[in-house]
Amino acid sequence: MHVIIVPCYSDNYAYLITEEGSGHCVVVDAPEAPPIEAALEAHGLTLDAIWLTHHHFDHVSGVAELAKTRPGLEVLGSRYDMQHDRIAGQTRAVADEERFDCAGHEVRVLEVPGHTLGAVAFVVDGDVFTGDTLFLAGCGRVFEGTMEMMSESLARFRELPRETRVFCGHEYTLNNLRFAQSVEPQSEIIEMALKAATAQREAGEFTVPGRLGQELEQNPFLRFDDPVLMGDDTPVESFTRLRQAKDSF
Ligand code: ZN
Ligand code: FE
Repeated sequence: MHVIIVPCYSDNYAYLITEEGSGHCVVVDAPEAPPIEAALEAHGLTLDAIWLTHHHFDHVSGVAELAKTRPGLEVLGSRYDMQHDRIAGQTRAVADEERFDCAGHEVRVLEVPGHTLGAVAFVVDGDVFTGDTLFLAGCGRVFEGTMEMMSESLARFRELPRETRVFCGHEYTLNNLRFAQSVEPQSEIIEMALKAATAQREAGEFTVPGRLGQELEQNPFLRFDDPVLMGDDTPVESFTRLRQAKDSF
């Protein structure tokens, strides 16, 4: 599957997933309609569905406008968000480990509560769309879940193949890498990643997608239970300490 990155607002991303030559696509998250409509137009794509990672306004605000001109458009999100009626216009609920077909490709749903209680991620072939749960070199704030919940959700991403491309909800990579460097100042991997991301941003390029293998080596929120970062803490204590340090970084 081919992924077209659509920047929205100042640092959000929407992603068009399309089978090359099909003329059809789905969009992961709909922060705002105009840039998504422009990308659909530019690539000559028909929008078949909206998949939402969670209910926050900066991920769903474009839904109504996109659906208005497309009667019957599927708006897919988590069962939690459907049950709690948190996403206006949601037409379909998906649950953990549910699998469904998209243009002949299997999509796997992961419920990843923590940032919100209804957060989900989508695994499509070798790609994962993580919303505000896993960022490149970081993770989302724990707004609704517990630290334990969030750490368990993040740990699930570690089971995916290392080559998996990571498409996250925001361009927060530079700041995240600076924090990662403060946690592991001796890491050459983080030092190199910071140089690379700085060059990309200066050139006006996106840092997404990342690779899971790289994340496993640089992202403190995937490494919270590594003895180097954990010390004498429990895994949850270690995760909590890291997340709280990032909150005030
Ligand atoms: Zn969010
Ligand atoms: Fe967000």
